[in-house]
Amino acid sequence: MKKVGKVFIFSFLVFHTCFSFGFIQNKNNSEWPYIINSDKSFDIASKCEMLVFVEIFNEYDIIPENSYAKILGVKNSYNISIERWKRETKKRILFNFKQLSKESLQDVIKVSSINSWEAISKVEIEKVIENDLRNWYKSTKLFYRNYIKEQLRLAALYPRITSEILQLSENEIQGYNFADKNFLLTFDDGPTKVNGNTDKLIEILDTHKLTGMFFVLGDNLEKRYKASSKSNLRTLYKNHKVYSHGKVHKSHQRYSSWSTSINYTNALINEVFDVRNENKFVYFRPPYGQRNRKVTHYLETKKTKLIFWNIDSRDWSSKLNAEQVATRQIKLMLLWRKGILLFHDIHRKAQKSVPIIHEYFKNNTINWLKSNEVTFE
Ligand SMILES: [Zn+2]
Repeated sequence: MKKVGKVFIFSFLVFHTCFSFGFIQNKNNSEWPYIINSDKSFDIASKCEMLVFVEIFNEYDIIPENSYAKILGVKNSYNISIERWKRETKKRILFNFKQLSKESLQDVIKVSSINSWEAISKVEIEKVIENDLRNWYKSTKLFYRNYIKEQLRLAALYPRITSEILQLSENEIQGYNFADKNFLLTFDDGPTKVNGNTDKLIEILDTHKLTGMFFVLGDNLEKRYKASSKSNLRTLYKNHKVYSHGKVHKSHQRYSSWSTSINYTNALINEVFDVRNENKFVYFRPPYGQRNRKVTHYLETKKTKLIFWNIDSRDWSSKLNAEQVATRQIKLMLLWRKGILLFHDIHRKAQKSVPIIHEYFKNNTINWLKSNEVTFE
């Protein structure tokens, strides 16, 4: 009873404070209702997000192995990959719990021990949350039911179909090893034609003093290069970084011309952007995250990295509008606490979603990494 009383009093204070300053942010009541404007408030939201994730993760975890294929809608399920994903995920979430400040553990939903997955799993969210979090809780459960299923599905397919879900080689970067609260924006599939979506997005990024890594398709870069000029491209990407997404948007897992695709795009980027060190290969992000060991080994010999992502916006999906894309990214940023956000500059949604996300965390201490300064060793 005492515990419930404390939680109640705190929640009331938070609610009251937020309300009196007009800080209740959500319009539809299903978003996190408190403003995030300090390390502590970030940690509280992050903790609550992780607690719901853990609850739903455990729901999937008790499903017998032989039911996965059916539930995930795949022909054959690679249960070894599923187990590996689960293991890695538990480790990451536990690590993230240890990043939370002590004071944040006591607030909104009290967590008394973060020493094990079992201890965290004991928190009964439903029983302790106040009314102002009920809608958030309901929608967050639904969100993680879908999200974890998405992740499990990718794991179930791996390595028959590779993706960002699991590392194939140590020269691959997913973003999980960034410092706490460090985030990098990345944009794929461009560039578009002159004054198209790529230009519009870059203008918005520049206005917000944000920078991005652009993984361009060789064919698109060549088209744009021919239609404009070197200087047009250099001016366009002045504050940003351009890396390779291959020549064509094909899976590089079973593509006989994979090395031509990589070499061609690398040479073109070097030519257009005058990369000084000619032996240096630019970073490569395989389309759909699909690659094989030959590809990873080849890039290893070129002393470069494959760059994936851990915070996927799914901005290409017609099921999500720009606001929903932003909400998804915000939740995943709170959950993973660091990493690489994936968008597509060829679509319009990023132009709206990125400013929403930037605004959401503007009074917080998260660090938007400068794409010019980021190198992966
Ligand atoms: Zn792509």
